[in-house]
Amino acid sequence: MCEVHEMSLRSILRRTFLGTALAGIGLWAASATAQIPGVPGVPGLPGATPTPTIPGIPPGMPGGPPTSPIPGLPAPPAGMPPIPTSLPAPGGTPGVPSIPGLPGLKLFSPTGALLMPVMKDEAKKIYQKEIDALAASKKSQVEKIPLLFEDNKAEINAFAGCDDTGKTFVVVTAGMYQMLDLMAQTKATDETFGTGYYDEYIKELAKQQEGKAQILPLPPGMLDPTKSLDQRKLKRQREIFDEAIAYVLGHELAHHYMGHLGSVCSGGAGGTIKPGDVIRLAKKVVPAVNQANEIQSDVEGVNNLLSTGQNEPDYKWSEGGALIVIDFFKKLRDLHPGAPLFTFMMTHPAPEVRAPIVKNTANFWRLTHPGAVTGNGNSQGSSTPKLPGVPGMPSGLPPMPGLPAPK
Ligand SMILES: [Zn+2]
Repeated sequence: MCEVHEMSLRSILRRTFLGTALAGIGLWAASATAQIPGVPGVPGLPGATPTPTIPGIPPGMPGGPPTSPIPGLPAPPAGMPPIPTSLPAPGGTPGVPSIPGLPGLKLFSPTGALLMPVMKDEAKKIYQKEIDALAASKKSQVEKIPLLFEDNKAEINAFAGCDDTGKTFVVVTAGMYQMLDLMAQTKATDETFGTGYYDEYIKELAKQQEGKAQILPLPPGMLDPTKSLDQRKLKRQREIFDEAIAYVLGHELAHHYMGHLGSVCSGGAGGTIKPGDVIRLAKKVVPAVNQANEIQSDVEGVNNLLSTGQNEPDYKWSEGGALIVIDFFKKLRDLHPGAPLFTFMMTHPAPEVRAPIVKNTANFWRLTHPGAVTGNGNSQGSSTPKLPGVPGMPSGLPPMPGLPAPK
């Protein structure tokens, strides 16, 4: 429910630039491919390898072999790759990365954004995993509560609520998924390449909050395919997204099984949302929002996400994604205090309150789960760098909440 306010920032997404980032794949594909030929042999960069040609297509045509070298252009020095003389086939999307082991399943747009159907599907799986990891008494209260999707990119929202018959649900909007992916994209790029995209992006976003709130696509300078499509960045991006959505979903589930909605939502599981109704239904649960409930849901949600993450085959989720979500809204607020979109947040636990709760909960979880590794045990992996000399504390508090790990 805190997200009713914190992420309800419904004015933040007046313009659907992000829709462009995800929906306008063809457009972005063209610009992405156009830049790739100048990048010889970047390891792990899909599309950097020459596209196989289709027999019978004339040189220079889509699918055909490259045209002959441009007259007057000097030959490349020995050992250097040949200078490309034609653009790749228009619309010829560079190899879009896939899940290892699941060939052909595309996860990312040609600019390296997680695709909306992928995020929805991922969230659904994580939601179920978190329910399954709950103690029986809690699980029985939420196992039939559906995770709904509101296809509204102009609304950043995720909350635990119910419909007009009192039937309960958890809902996440398209805008919320995109916001989480933008955080994950910029953070993952920073961790992989030492850039400052995350903070730059928040600054740009804050500048746009004059008069009306809106969200922005990543600026073109952040769409360099040698970074945005780098396999290490994509892998890390997905880890951060998973951790972040696991925190959001775990928090919302807690509102339900802790009984925070009480008499407001007493119709049992199985709620539905009609298109366009998400804002009205969000307002309905606002009276049930209070600081004690929010803190309790944060504690429960972090415990749930860390326990659930232990069952992941590779990367074990940390609280890093939660801290990014909290940090993101804190920075946006600090850079633009009093912006209309943040009035909702005033009734909510401040990020200064929430971040320590999340960190302390995670540290206590690790103390009570000796041997458990979160964030794969390294600062790059968890966004929560270890501090030396904290006895018994597998992962210490970061010196500054949400700041990139010290290099
Ligand atoms: Zn909440």
